[in-house]
Amino acid sequence: MSRQLRSARGRALSLGLGSALLLALCFLPTPDASAAGGPHTIVIDAGHGGFDRGGIPGQRVAEKTMTLDVAQRVEKQLSAAGYRVIMTRDTDVFVPLGTRVALANAQRDAIFVCIHFNSATRVGANGIETYYYRSDSAQLAADIHRQVVGGTETDNRGIRRRGFYVLRRTSIPSVLVECGFLTNPDEARLALQSSYRERLAARIVNGVMGKPSPSNRPVVAGATHVRSPIGGSYDDFVRSVPERSSISHHSGRSSKKSSRHKSSKSTKKKSSGSSKKKKRITDD
Ligand SMILES: [Zn+2]
Repeated sequence: MSRQLRSARGRALSLGLGSALLLALCFLPTPDASAAGGPHTIVIDAGHGGFDRGGIPGQRVAEKTMTLDVAQRVEKQLSAAGYRVIMTRDTDVFVPLGTRVALANAQRDAIFVCIHFNSATRVGANGIETYYYRSDSAQLAADIHRQVVGGTETDNRGIRRRGFYVLRRTSIPSVLVECGFLTNPDEARLALQSSYRERLAARIVNGVMGKPSPSNRPVVAGATHVRSPIGGSYDDFVRSVPERSSISHHSGRSSKKSSRHKSSKSTKKKSSGSSKKKKRITDD
């Protein structure tokens, strides 16, 4: 056999093998996230963006950068697991809350996971807290919260019910996880490590998948416990009381224009509503 013929034959053989492999791949079951009964589509919402840095004035580590990074890691991991992932933003841009919610509500068989970092003027404030509003979101909040707390060494600040705009206006199960305080030196240092952000993302993904929660540290002292809306043996649903000194977080002076999802003053000041207030995106 001539060398030419041999190499031609070799090519044909490898071509045949290649097609067989391709054919086999076509019939291989692709990872189907919804097969287990969970949601098919995950809408990931990286908090803030663009001119809205998040956090409090003078904060060194920009919240918008950390939220986007964790969100992108979550996206990558969920996509690899076979989920369809929609990002409300994938770059450093400002996206109005209404747009984020509309995007979420346009999805079927979906859940909405909003990623934030916390801030407070009291530098000692630390820990993880997770929010939900409707009862159909309580289980998801618990799953994500317990996973994230289990993956960190910081305080467990509990699962809280609160009517943030993005939680109240979304028609699919939705939660907001605060992945630690960027105003706390220890938590800011951790957040700046890519390995830590990867771990946070992995924990959020575990929560989305409904993986069993590790046994967790109890909620910090001082929190008022409320009855768990989902039952179970954990005692980590607490009354939503904002960190006293974090009142400006997500409700600062620029809130008229920004994508603040929080207004910790809104409940107290409800009766003193002004036209200015109406323009604000408040949650209660
Ligand atoms: Zn935030």
